[in-house]
Amino acid sequence: MHLSVVGGGWAGISAAVHAAQRGWTVTLWEASRQLGGRARTLAHQDLRLDNGQHILIGAYTETLALMRTLAVNPDNVLHRQPLTLLRPDGSGLRLPDGPPPWNLLVGVVRARGWSWQDRWSLLRTVLQWQRQHFLCADHVTVAELCSPMTDRVMQQLIEPLCVSALNTAAHAASGAVFLRVLHDALWSGHGGSDLLLPTADLGGLIPDAAATWLAQHGVDIRLGSRWLPSSVPSDALVLACPAWEAARLTADHHPAWSQQAKALQHAAITTVYVQHPDPDFVGLVQPMLALPSDAQHPAQFVFDRGQLLGRAQWGLLACMVSDSAGTREELEQRVLAQLREQLFKPMAKRPPTHQTPPSMQSPLRGSGELGLRVVQTVVEKRATFVCTPGLQRPPMAIGPRWWACGDYVAGPYPATLEGAVRSGREVIDQIAQTREGKRRL
Ligand SMILES: Cc1cc2nc3c(=O)[nH]c(=O)nc-3n(C[C@H](O)[C@H](O)[C@H](O)COP(=O)(O)OP(=O)(O)OC[C@H]3O[C@@H](n4cnc5c(N)ncnc54)[C@H](O)[C@@H]3O)c2cc1C
Repeated sequence: MHLSVVGGGWAGISAAVHAAQRGWTVTLWEASRQLGGRARTLAHQDLRLDNGQHILIGAYTETLALMRTLAVNPDNVLHRQPLTLLRPDGSGLRLPDGPPPWNLLVGVVRARGWSWQDRWSLLRTVLQWQRQHFLCADHVTVAELCSPMTDRVMQQLIEPLCVSALNTAAHAASGAVFLRVLHDALWSGHGGSDLLLPTADLGGLIPDAAATWLAQHGVDIRLGSRWLPSSVPSDALVLACPAWEAARLTADHHPAWSQQAKALQHAAITTVYVQHPDPDFVGLVQPMLALPSDAQHPAQFVFDRGQLLGRAQWGLLACMVSDSAGTREELEQRVLAQLREQLFKPMAKRPPTHQTPPSMQSPLRGSGELGLRVVQTVVEKRATFVCTPGLQRPPMAIGPRWWACGDYVAGPYPATLEGAVRSGREVIDQIAQTREGKRRL
């Protein structure tokens, strides 16, 4: 069995690894000079940044399993902490470590800055979802699904969760897909909702180890090689490239599938890397903080790269703008103003009170607001597909011997690392089953 995998993102890597484990002969074509696709390391001067700041969660079981296969210990490259969505003023949700649903219950009861009405609106709605087995009609949006919740819960919890998981605003996002993500995160087992924040650049999570593992297992990796329909024929072909490229490659032979892939809409994600000027800056109180966001304050989260990746990135803040709009310059200016307004100024004005726990007295355990400097801005214009209600995603089977995998292919998840890795494993299982079926006939 000779398999060609077209695309060396996390889906293509996963497909190549699972095919090699079955003893198949695999050629992996990757158009760029490195593996990783949209989740890759980006060298900037002497810094190893990422193509975009990423968050993983404990429910990413297939991604964690793939790391272990590649001899990467997740504990060495991911900082695990119970779900914490705190804002710079200390308000928000922090779940304790514990089994679901008790961790959620305790976290909601203890949520800072929330009224009892806020807490009850959230718990009542989640209980309702649980009674419905986390299922809803296809046409429902996240905003409709969460309409019984108060404005504060929507703004501080649902909207940031929705835009970071689905890269689609709550009023336009699919309620059914959101519920699936919440189910796996909040209900699937102890640690499912934990945040896993990379303590290495993205290459160190999977792509670098994959390059070594695949070469050791005989996979022919062709970096800098764009697959073309005229390339060496194989018994089966897996398109693991993005939807628009898969649509282009299938346009002549499989026009119906191609149209479905082409019809997907995409939304941008921008990461603005900002350097704090103060050498004594000792970082945020949390490795990740949620930021109040709107059109003028576009970043939903800020990550402390120094705390996560160590000395080389001390004072470097990665600001994540999901579903981003506007020019690079506008976004940079707005994010800088947002950091000054939300992280630095309020704390300079407001003295800590005796009720404020020490860890929350200031979002920064350093000083200084002047001289914040944008180091690099990465705008991924087609970061993910827009995950709207009832969206028809193209299936894995394209036609005889032609298959597809990737974060956009029909599946339970939105465009995520876990969705990509899962589809890479599933496509190999499906090809194997089809071959097995044919052999029996
Ligand atoms: C900025 C940003 C932030 C994100 N944040 C998160 C997050 O926090 N958590 C999360 O879970 N997910 C996040 N995602 C989504 C996640 O990165 C993607 O879902 C995942 O990386 C998609 O992987 P993939 O393998 O399906 O596609 P890709 O990564 O796009 O891989 C496709 C590969 O195919 C190659 N290729 C294209 N054409 C050809 C050709 N003709 N021949 C050979 N090779 C070809 C490309 O070069 C590319 O390497 C984020 C994405 C972005 C862009």
